Amino acid sequence: MSDKKQTACDLTRKLYEEDAYLSRCEAKVLEIRKSDDGKGSLTEVILDRTVFFPEGGGQSPDRGWLMTSGNGAAEGGVYEVTDVQIADGVISHTIAINPVGGGVLASGGNAPALKPGDTVMLQIDWERRFSFMQNHTGEHILSGLMHNKYGFDNIGFHLSDNSVTLDINGQLDEEQILQLEWDANEVVYRNIPVEILYPSDEELTQYTYRSKIEIEGQVRLVRIPDVDLCACCATHVHRTGEIGLVKIVRVLKFNGGMRLFISCGRRAFELVQRHQQRVEEVSHLTNRSQDEIGDGVRHLLDEIGRLKQKNRELEYKAAFLRLETIPSDLKDVFLFVGEMDTIVQRNLVNRLAEEHEGVCGVFSGSDETGYRYIIASRTQDSRETQKKLREKLGAKGGGKPEMIQGSVSGTKESIERALS
Ligand SMILES: [Zn+2]
Repeated sequence: MSDKKQTACDLTRKLYEEDAYLSRCEAKVLEIRKSDDGKGSLTEVILDRTVFFPEGGGQSPDRGWLMTSGNGAAEGGVYEVTDVQIADGVISHTIAINPVGGGVLASGGNAPALKPGDTVMLQIDWERRFSFMQNHTGEHILSGLMHNKYGFDNIGFHLSDNSVTLDINGQLDEEQILQLEWDANEVVYRNIPVEILYPSDEELTQYTYRSKIEIEGQVRLVRIPDVDLCACCATHVHRTGEIGLVKIVRVLKFNGGMRLFISCGRRAFELVQRHQQRVEEVSHLTNRSQDEIGDGVRHLLDEIGRLKQKNRELEYKAAFLRLETIPSDLKDVFLFVGEMDTIVQRNLVNRLAEEHEGVCGVFSGSDETGYRYIIASRTQDSRETQKKLREKLGAKGGGKPEMIQGSVSGTKESIERALS
């Protein structure tokens, strides 16, 4: 097994590949570049070495700080590193404000100028990075187990602050997913070492490893003995026990395969803690034990269904009682009611049209939300009434001469005026 090789084109030494637990280092400024992301000018700093992992392999870049308190630079500047990218072996660190020629620092005071040859200190946001390491190694465990057992491949991986997703080219049922999650946590409990290998070309031919892309040059392999062997450039924990917990949070059918949303380590713990609070809240609200909250919610939904049915019946009765108060010799009748079931509304209009000679309508809704209307007549063309509402109030709807329906926004008063 060869040692880590540094190729000539690698301008920046990747300390994160040599030691993922290094959170801080001193570095020399090689070059300062200006760029523009469309929103404003940015400054990119190229260094001779870095602890910052650049975006790659589905993992978001590290964030942290660049400090100009080292030897040879002006004193006292702390710049936030907002992005880290790698292209052609060159790693660029985007810093939040322009340090060339100075400027005002976010913390107040003048930013010192930064120039090639200056020595700076780099510090990554370690809590965030460690969480990325827990999730990335957790993903390798899941992908490796799945590949070994079902032959499916991980064809897409995304690890950011908000989510960790893993796309696979096959489908697992619920039981298989629970078993996969169980097996992954067994690997965590066994606290297996996670090894980083830099095999020679000859050694490489003897390995069977997972890889999403064709790799040129030195291949970096991450091995979890008996679990997984995968080509990967990213940062990983030393032993699987540091992951603590692997959770498959959600699964979706995706592109003929599946997308697994996963959560590992501190994120998984925080998720479980939040879920525990929600379960406790629902348990309290439904007055059921935590194991019985499903029954509690089902009981409430049944109750709501019964109440809705009862409400419909009462609505029906109230509406027909109201009909009895309308003088029978009235020709046109327009009733305004609150939110009403459409079936009740239609029956009511039919009954009105049977008993009154002119045009009859029922408007269901309120002045604030507008009204849904059904209008009917056995002697006249209802569409004429619709026309009035459309012309004066922009009502929408349509139908036949004997019955129309639609909706209109306006107050009861404005609708009555339009109809008169
Ligand atoms: Zn990886």
